[in-house]
Amino acid sequence: MTELIDSHAHLTFPDFDKDRKDVLKRAREAGLVGIVNIGSGAGLEDNFKSLDLAKVNDDIFSTIGFHPHDASKVIGHSENFDAIKKLAAEPKVVAVGEVGLDYHYIAKEPNAAHLKKDQIECLKRLIAIANEFNLPLIIHDREAHDDTLFTLRNEHANNWGGVMHCFSGDVALAKEVLDLGYYISITGAVTFKKKAEDLQKVVKYVPIERLLVETDCPYIAPEPHRGERNEPSYVVQVAKKIAALKGLSYEDVARITTLNTRRLFHLPHEMPEGRIAYAIRQSLYLNITNRCSLACKFCPKHSGNFEVKGYNLKLQREPDIEDVWKAIGDPSDFKEVVFCGYGEPTMRLELLKAIAKRLKDGGAIVRLDTDGLGNLVHGRNILSELKGLIDSISISINADNSKKYKSVCPSKYGETAFPAVCDFIREAKKNIPDVTASAVSVPGVDAEATRRLVEKELGVKFRLREYQNVG
Ligand code: SF4
Ligand SMILES: [Zn+2]
Repeated sequence: MTELIDSHAHLTFPDFDKDRKDVLKRAREAGLVGIVNIGSGAGLEDNFKSLDLAKVNDDIFSTIGFHPHDASKVIGHSENFDAIKKLAAEPKVVAVGEVGLDYHYIAKEPNAAHLKKDQIECLKRLIAIANEFNLPLIIHDREAHDDTLFTLRNEHANNWGGVMHCFSGDVALAKEVLDLGYYISITGAVTFKKKAEDLQKVVKYVPIERLLVETDCPYIAPEPHRGERNEPSYVVQVAKKIAALKGLSYEDVARITTLNTRRLFHLPHEMPEGRIAYAIRQSLYLNITNRCSLACKFCPKHSGNFEVKGYNLKLQREPDIEDVWKAIGDPSDFKEVVFCGYGEPTMRLELLKAIAKRLKDGGAIVRLDTDGLGNLVHGRNILSELKGLIDSISISINADNSKKYKSVCPSKYGETAFPAVCDFIREAKKNIPDVTASAVSVPGVDAEATRRLVEKELGVKFRLREYQNVG
């Protein structure tokens, strides 16, 4: 079953007193492998309750802190913050949250300015605890966007990462939150039939690698449960809606948001075995080597990060033809099969040709994503060998001249690499029906100049790829 994590639940609230065990059972049956339970929300006491719940359930993790509603109550008593500090050292505590600012109910109070000051002071003290204990933050921001962002920036609230939970802003705010290095967490509000347009725009805008899913139960039950008490198993509806909005499968959203949540909160999990074949949407990608002819400056591989779209692509060993064929399974399950992965496929030319032949014989559509250095590496024109085996090819060019190419994608081929890629594209036109040249949108890559070169001089289609957006 597809794994999923509810990144924000209040299971210690009295709403669950009667049937907490059944709620957890339903969550596990729905595929949930983790729940981050929020310790803040009902004063200091709830922090202890939440940690107790986490201690007796391997798949529940706890957070600590004070909700902004409690700020004025706790701020004058330093023992409250001492108690939170003590809890911060507990192994099942994974974050400080939800903490933040909420001006919704206090805006019309005669002493609103004073209440706001208390909230800001409380938030600052909790950020300091997060920083002292290397914990990420879960931020609650309701009708207080400017003060929240200002405080987060000023107090260095991004040292250990964080998430803006139950996101309720627009795309402009989402951008600011992403710039801070934070994740954005989506609740069941995204499924609502009315007034969900802004949130749905945010979901389309934010890269899936930066989204989390949550219930915020017992509140904000998604459709078709709207109005009922919410519970962790309903987070499936949130992930399904995100999948529909982003044109991904439910499995894609579940896998990637689960990895995001594990990363942010450092949740324990075994690294899955490196994948040879991995599905994204209706395409099957093949990862046949981790070797590259280039050392692209923007590639996360160099920092030891081999995770792409929630998959581990670090191969334990280079697969042989039969390993790859077995990993493919039934190619007719997919719209296309793509040689891509975390390495340069043409480094394994003979295997690539053998697998492509089998795929074509079986009627599959075959695509190749390559760095375009194959002719230089092999010392011959490999494109004539790929004729009839590859339906479409995407070649990373990443620059409009040799000097820039060398700085973005250094290799042992030096100045000879860029002209070789250009020649490769010209040769590809003669041998492969569909040819695209692409550039990654990272600093140092002049997308428009590259587009002009590709479309006007080389005469093929151009595609600008998002950084780290494999697939
Ligand atoms: S060719 Fe691909 S995998 Fe290799 S370094 Fe460049 S971006 Fe990374
Ligand atoms: Zn909450």
